[in-house]
Amino acid sequence: MHIHEYQAKSLFRQFNIQTPEAVLIDHVSQASDACTSLAGELWVVKAQVHAGGRGKGGGVILCHSIEEVENACNQLFGSNLITPQTDTKGLPVHQLLIEGGQNIERELYLGLLVDRQTQKITILASTEGGMDIEKVAAETPDKIIKFGVDPLGSLNAKDCDTIASQLKLKGELVNQFTKTLLGLYEIFTSKDVSLIEINPLITTTENNLLALDGKIDFDDNALYRHEDIVELRDTSQEDEKENKASEHQLNYISLNGTIGCMVNGAGLAMATMDLIEHHGGSPANFLDVGGGTTAERVAKAFELIQTEDNVKGVLVNIFGGIVRCDLIAEGILQAIDKVGLTLPIVVRLEGTNAKQGLALLDESEFDIATEADLTQAAIRIVALSEGASA
Ligand code: ADP
Ligand code: MG
Repeated sequence: MHIHEYQAKSLFRQFNIQTPEAVLIDHVSQASDACTSLAGELWVVKAQVHAGGRGKGGGVILCHSIEEVENACNQLFGSNLITPQTDTKGLPVHQLLIEGGQNIERELYLGLLVDRQTQKITILASTEGGMDIEKVAAETPDKIIKFGVDPLGSLNAKDCDTIASQLKLKGELVNQFTKTLLGLYEIFTSKDVSLIEINPLITTTENNLLALDGKIDFDDNALYRHEDIVELRDTSQEDEKENKASEHQLNYISLNGTIGCMVNGAGLAMATMDLIEHHGGSPANFLDVGGGTTAERVAKAFELIQTEDNVKGVLVNIFGGIVRCDLIAEGILQAIDKVGLTLPIVVRLEGTNAKQGLALLDESEFDIATEADLTQAAIRIVALSEGASA
């Protein structure tokens, strides 16, 4: 689960990490009061969306007057912000953070993540923080400092000093850095975080160290033990279809292709997508309806796929192990009965009662192409989705 910058910064403050003064607003009428409550004559208006790269997408606007702040708010509120990290539709902006503009001296990077290869919590740091950190990592990886911490051990102040000196921090800034890194580590371990990032972590001309941005991703599997974190969820930033699917215990991910897939089992779903690609098509989604699926769930899944704009054909691939193929066939027929059949469909059934299932579909009043072989099914749906006749 992702959270917004303002929520990450609120957690930062609870764990002794310094952030600039800021006010969250959800309407332009609150902008003027927000500005006057902040010290200084420079403000930054920051769109709160679940994506980075906002600076590059026009979602971080530096303002020198309250009028400029109000103009920036009018521009951003209600818009969809497109950044290098969003899709082409962007994400809706409902909240803005008005932050005091800082006198930045240096922009550093500091992050923690789970490194599966080394089986450690890895601290990543760089003197080259800011909006081009991805480029730095890709082109000059030696500028990224890596420091592994044994998950059964702990991070101590001496480790923090070592990293601070690699970041060329001196004097009082070293103490502030130690506090920041220990705070990040504490959030990471106590809240079951998978990634936490401050980019940029700035030093100011007043000799302070501040978290100017904040990103935290939580491990979904551990959310059941963090009610306070679950409350921070903002579904307006999530894919509507994916949320609807998860309400019905369907594992669904939207993709950009044209062939909707309905498969039971994540591995089989991946293999099905590979075969579609191999035969010249492209999948419109990943969908795992689960092992012990029911006719109702199949109906829901079918509804979901058919309403995706880019879908030109549907491939159903079910291996009946625990589930019986004739029940799946009934589910497909129920779904078609309910939502209608507007697209070509190929159904491949294999396993328990596959023959009965395929027969049910063949005998139905609907134009359903059936296959017992997966390769044939993939070839057929690619052809049908490109306009060939059944
Ligand atoms: P994103 O990573 O989504 O682009 P950031 O919050 O990192 O958004 O902001 C992008 C850049 O904008 C920062 O690297 C920094 O240079 C500048 N910036 C952000 N907040 C402030 C602020 N309060 N004062 C001055 N500059 C800021
Ligand atoms: Mg940033």
